[in-house]
Amino acid sequence: MTGLLGEMESTNASVAPKRLVATGIGKEFGHVRALAGVDMSVGQREILGLIGPNGSGKTTLLNAITGVVKPDAGSFELEDVSWRWLPPHRIARLGIARTFQSVRLFVGMTVFENVRVAATASLSARAARERALEVMAELGLERHGDQLVENLPYGLRRATELARALAERPAFVLLDEPAAGLDGREAQELGEMLQRIRSEHGCGVVVVDHDVGLIMRSCDSVLVLHEGAVIAHGAPSEVRRDPAVISAYLGS
Ligand code: ADP
Ligand code: MG
Repeated sequence: MTGLLGEMESTNASVAPKRLVATGIGKEFGHVRALAGVDMSVGQREILGLIGPNGSGKTTLLNAITGVVKPDAGSFELEDVSWRWLPPHRIARLGIARTFQSVRLFVGMTVFENVRVAATASLSARAARERALEVMAELGLERHGDQLVENLPYGLRRATELARALAERPAFVLLDEPAAGLDGREAQELGEMLQRIRSEHGCGVVVVDHDVGLIMRSCDSVLVLHEGAVIAHGAPSEVRRDPAVISAYLGS
């Protein structure tokens, strides 16, 4: 009886959705206050949009979460782990993956190799190979597996970076301007992919982008940064009407 109960408890624990929570995150670069006490919270199977003018701290927030920069204040929490700063490989092991504003891939390596290397961090060689092929197929990359990444058109390089992030089987993915530089059809496909990352991969998503249409269409909630501070947080329809957001970012 106890054994059964124990099993049920552990099963429940493993399906309980996780939340990634940031509290009071602060970061200064010299005299520039990039983040001034930012709170953020996103659950699995939720898509949070992060918008704001250039220089408002969006990338710095993703960098702080993923260990690329060390915050001066605040803390992060995911399940029973709480931290101010951890190195990027530890963040990856917590199940947080990301893409960069300017695509980062291993040049001199093929699409397949790039994706497989990401999967290798958490899987055996054989499982990593299968996982790589699976996410490549999902992102329409299977025909490009043997191509060197530096020879790919921009949209496919973006897709390869996203495939790398998903190959890690993350619980959360943080995407820094994934639609930048994509054509209309690719941006449309990205919107559909965001929904699949939520529903099929079961991830929580934080997506930074200037494509307001994509953000408003795709996100459950939207957080607006201005000069390193949160000026609005709510459902897309509320945020879109918020006078502070209109004057700082959306315009009239
Ligand atoms: P966003 O992504 O919203 O455009 P960033 O987070 O990149 O904004 O930048 C926020 C502010 O922090 C800007 O003023 C930027 O110049 C500054 N900043 C970001 N990274 C660095 C850095 N590594 N060194 C110095 N200043 C930085
Ligand atoms: Mg940025």
